[in-house]
Amino acid sequence: MADKKNYYDILGVSKTASQDEIKSAYRKLAKQYHPDFHPGDAAAAEKFKEINEANETLSDENKRKQYDYELEHPGMSGNPFGGGFGGFGEGGFGGFEDIINSVFGGGFGASRQSVTPRGDDIQQTVTLSFLDAIKGCTKTVRYMRNEPCTACSGTGAKGGTAFQKCTRCGGNGKVKYQQDTIFGRTIQVGVCPECNGTGKKILERCPDCKGRGFLRNETVVTVNIPAGVDTTNQIRKRGYGQAAGNGGESGDLYINFRIEPHKMLRRDGRDLYVTVPISYKTAVLGGKIQVPGIDDPIELTVPEGTASGTRFTIRGKGVRTNMGTGNLYVTVEIDIPTKLNRDQAKKLQEYEDAIPLKSCDNMQRYSNNLSAVYGKKVDKQ
Ligand SMILES: [Zn+2]
Ligand SMILES: [Zn+2]
Repeated sequence: MADKKNYYDILGVSKTASQDEIKSAYRKLAKQYHPDFHPGDAAAAEKFKEINEANETLSDENKRKQYDYELEHPGMSGNPFGGGFGGFGEGGFGGFEDIINSVFGGGFGASRQSVTPRGDDIQQTVTLSFLDAIKGCTKTVRYMRNEPCTACSGTGAKGGTAFQKCTRCGGNGKVKYQQDTIFGRTIQVGVCPECNGTGKKILERCPDCKGRGFLRNETVVTVNIPAGVDTTNQIRKRGYGQAAGNGGESGDLYINFRIEPHKMLRRDGRDLYVTVPISYKTAVLGGKIQVPGIDDPIELTVPEGTASGTRFTIRGKGVRTNMGTGNLYVTVEIDIPTKLNRDQAKKLQEYEDAIPLKSCDNMQRYSNNLSAVYGKKVDKQ
């Protein structure tokens, strides 16, 4: 903390600079000192890191407040904002990918990625039953891919050792070349064409993989699928994509989900929905019904005088995820009996006759309205 860097000086802004000023100063400097344009230049890399560090603090109002305090009170061990300052360095510096994405919108990753040959990613779709997706499960995924050759550790050289340093690139796998870009003429770093970026020249090929560093094989991978996954989720298994060959890093495996429908339940995020038929009698007099839960049927009490289409909420009986638990929404619909025989129809008529219009709120209101508008009264219909 003793010799604290002045982040305002680093970004070339005043102590009262607005967030917009800080952002624009940062973007300008980050472009200027981006390592892609200064390959092998340690001073530029250091400067780039410093710029990011400064931005990280000043673009966050809380960190900035704390920083301002410490800047004005050098040597103070305690401060009113609690917690220690510092701890940036590698931790605060989110790796090049993050920076590249935030400054350049991702369009610049390519030149960096190509320096280290990396295998392609693989996408696989796993079908889960409705309940497996809700409860979580373990699945075995089998797929064909280029697997790193174990005999040569993916190097392609016999025993993983029969190679020497590439003379073209001096063993670092990179060559520099000039390129004209929208920022002017820059020095770009590319993969050494002699060794494909491996920095090695194979003296004797691995007999197993014929020097390619990988073998076409069926890969079997066990995936633990957490409870509550949805079709919008994806699981990444690092290194289970295509092998790069030449000792490069394998791509990743991305697992997507297809979820089979349930016979009764419908899911939306963490919430479950179901429509349950109830009898006319239950709707009128109330009663207990069984509704489908995740593990077992759940008993629901339908109160007296429940209209068809009423929705009940059973809290906490939806999908449980690490983000929270949803609800189960039950819509009841009165089931209308069909194909009544003569005797049943007669009983229904008796029932109808026994219930006066004044017991039927909606029909009573309707009848009154009809009478008010047209001067016509109706009985039950
Ligand atoms: Zn080379
Ligand atoms: Zn091999």
